[in-house]
Amino acid sequence: MVRGLAVPPRVQVAAEPTGAALPRVRRRRGAPARRPRGRGRGGLRDVSALATVDELLERFLELVAVPSPSGQERAVSDLIQARLRAAGLSVSEDKSAAVTGSASGNLVATAKGTGGGVPIAFSAHMDTVPIDRPPTVIVENGVVHTDGETVLGADDKAAVTVLLQVAEDLAADPPAGDVSFVISAGEEVGLKGAAALDVASVPAEACFVFDSEGPVGTVVMSAPTLRRLTVEFRGRSAHAGIEPENGRSAVVAAARAVAAMRLGRLDEQTTANVGLIEGGSAGNVVPERCVVTAEARSRDEAGLVAQVGHMVEVCNVAAAETGVDVTVTIDEDFRGYVHSDESLPVRLALAGLAACDVEPHPIGGGGGSDANVFNLRGLPAVTLGVGFEDVHSSQERIAVARLADVYRVAHALVRAAGAAVL
Ligand SMILES: [Zn+2]
Repeated sequence: MVRGLAVPPRVQVAAEPTGAALPRVRRRRGAPARRPRGRGRGGLRDVSALATVDELLERFLELVAVPSPSGQERAVSDLIQARLRAAGLSVSEDKSAAVTGSASGNLVATAKGTGGGVPIAFSAHMDTVPIDRPPTVIVENGVVHTDGETVLGADDKAAVTVLLQVAEDLAADPPAGDVSFVISAGEEVGLKGAAALDVASVPAEACFVFDSEGPVGTVVMSAPTLRRLTVEFRGRSAHAGIEPENGRSAVVAAARAVAAMRLGRLDEQTTANVGLIEGGSAGNVVPERCVVTAEARSRDEAGLVAQVGHMVEVCNVAAAETGVDVTVTIDEDFRGYVHSDESLPVRLALAGLAACDVEPHPIGGGGGSDANVFNLRGLPAVTLGVGFEDVHSSQERIAVARLADVYRVAHALVRAAGAAVL
């Protein structure tokens, strides 16, 4: 049980200017490890009687103080497991680290229900984009950010913070239906942890992935499929001054192909990009090899097939025109999904948001998240807004009040699932 810790090292709490204090919170007297049972499962419990904003903030600061870039999740994984065990839950770490390159497997813990309702899962990821040292964290005017030198890691530790608190609450005061907590590793490097998770072993009928930008209340109804193209042009090298006519420039072929590609936002559903071009060896050598890394995404499979076909076609044409060989490799980084209003996680999300007076913002997503994997593997999942901003940048920040909002939403989802029938 970790409670009421002082602000961890390297955290600066800025002097609060008058009138711009942290949200006013009422501190509970003392900090009972276990809350009394029997306040009625599935009923309208007063969530404000649970953790306070200050407690959520303390826990969040403890988590962000432990850097966990993808591949180096061990320390934060140990911290998360210790918290879940201290709450009285058993935690399993799967064996995925052996295949993902992460330093931790995925963690799964389940707060057993007392009966009834629909079993659900909450998910967040423990890894962050690269960070080489503990962030210097500043809490100022109710907003948590860094000194601008590193990311904060609110993506996705704000969500992990809330899920750990909810897990503790439910261990002490069980829900109606089972509530499982899935904390994945390796999310930021291509959803690797989730991809290696035995999704069928998670006892849930619907999953909520807390991992989207946008206001709390955001419900990502759909996500695109992403196909990555690795295009290798192979020509013939030659001295650029002595015998250029004997060369076949792979760079010229690549340039022609890229110039002919339809890129950017192509329609409501589809985008495409060339992100990387690598080729040549020196200014005086006709380049033999050039590799172009590109992607296309769409929420519409037919549109995606057409766009990828177009990209392959212009590469073939450019190669033929310039007399070089070309090989195109297509990988699917993640598979998209589209939920209707009738899908179970969407219905529960909308019911939960309504019950806690948070305005729903259904959106079509443009990125991938663990929800893509869960949907593909048969566990219907939606991604929800956490309220963090400018993630993956040194300007990343989150308002302290958002932690409390997400906490409220998570408890409302537990109640909605507890009252639902399949
Ligand atoms: Zn994330």
